Amino acid sequence: MYLSRYFLPVLRDTPKEAEIVSHQLMLRAGMVKQSAAGIYSWLPLGLSVLKKIEAIVREEQNRAGAVEILMPTIQPADLWRESGRYEAYGKEMLRIMDRHERDMLFGPTAEEVVTAIFRDSVKSYKDLPKNLYNIQWKFRDEIRPRFGVMRGREFLMKDAYSFDLTKEDARRTYQRMFAAYLRTFARMGLKSVPMKADTGPIGGDLSHEFIILADTGESEVFLHKDLLEETVPPADTDFWGDLSGIVEDWTSRYAATDEIHDAARFEREVPADKRLTARGIEVGHIFYFGTKYSEAMGAKVQGPDGKLVTPEMGSYGVGVSRLAGAVIEASHDKDGIIWPVPVAPFEVGLINLRSGDAATDAACVDIYGKLTAAGIEVLYDDTDERAGAKFSTMDLVGIPFQLIVGPKGLKSGEIEVKVRAGGERVSLAVESGLNHVIEAVQSQRSLA
Ligand code: ATP
Ligand code: MG
Repeated sequence: MYLSRYFLPVLRDTPKEAEIVSHQLMLRAGMVKQSAAGIYSWLPLGLSVLKKIEAIVREEQNRAGAVEILMPTIQPADLWRESGRYEAYGKEMLRIMDRHERDMLFGPTAEEVVTAIFRDSVKSYKDLPKNLYNIQWKFRDEIRPRFGVMRGREFLMKDAYSFDLTKEDARRTYQRMFAAYLRTFARMGLKSVPMKADTGPIGGDLSHEFIILADTGESEVFLHKDLLEETVPPADTDFWGDLSGIVEDWTSRYAATDEIHDAARFEREVPADKRLTARGIEVGHIFYFGTKYSEAMGAKVQGPDGKLVTPEMGSYGVGVSRLAGAVIEASHDKDGIIWPVPVAPFEVGLINLRSGDAATDAACVDIYGKLTAAGIEVLYDDTDERAGAKFSTMDLVGIPFQLIVGPKGLKSGEIEVKVRAGGERVSLAVESGLNHVIEAVQSQRSLA
């Protein structure tokens, strides 16, 4: 992409309304634009990141056996009357009336919609297990939308819903999702820690929140330090095999959010030098809740003995749009964002230090062509801004590798390679600079 043709409305100054660094940087880097409180337009740079996060989430859901569907954003209130949640959900639900005076709502979650889909099409235990997910916009009229996309009112969520014949099967599905979540966040360069959670109004008895540590996190968390060194299940994990060891391994050490923290247990179970109290951001939440919705909505399948069985359900959420902010909270410096390659909007930033100079332009166009041909995503700053402004824009938007091309270097056949993380710069012959960057990008595309 040539910057001159792109749409990248960067801001030099930090907007006053933004309290936390990810919100400040997302606005400054022209990733999003607020439309109303907690409601955002995604501009090209932000949209690229959102799509990359979405793609990773999708790949890991598919790997773990979930099947993608797409449910509507607008739902009929009657479905929620069936489950009994229409009144219970309260003011976070945006209620709408259509022209025929039917009660509708903008979905804050989709247990009811998916249970109705299941109820009407799955009739036999032979069709189980089923795990259906979608990546769709949700609306929750949060009392205090804040921190940009981290606590929005309209936000993108991946939500999966599982149906199993027995409690045992449902636990296995839960374990598959648990392992998939560990992989999902690790692939974005995030260290997530599953923490035992309250099942709250959704009901049920097994639930974990996936938390990444950040000073600006909304909840206080308490954990065994060793969890930060734990490895995630590899890509070739047999998701249909026995994953209980992985879950056991991760959950045998103490980790809890403030909502259910047990100080006495923390002190009893975790040696003093291993106790970590920190702040965390919830990026995912998984629940096993049994037959709460299937029972209320009359979803039944025929069991092996011919008798009707009410399937055991779970639901599994990932905050896709929240993750864009969460990655920035975890990876930035005073100059701007530092994207991990797998979620970077572009992999290489190419800076022309003397746009208009025929030799420099030609060299840049050649390098751009070669990188593109190698499958690298390049943002080429071909504008006639000052060099200093180009450097600060490229640092701000956080492209992981930069190639800096100017007339002086070219005289001796050299370009500069800069690594955004750490800021290390080296001059290399054009070809080796190119190869160096291509290899570095390729090796960092899969972090887990
Ligand atoms: P929170 O405790 O942060 O309000 P929640 O428990 O209400 O979240 P879930 O219903 O578990 O959220 O939703 C699944 C995921 O969706 C959460 O883990 C979070 O990452 C994301 N999410 C929830 N609410 C918001 C929001 N207002 N803005 C952005 N992402 C959100
Ligand atoms: Mg939650």
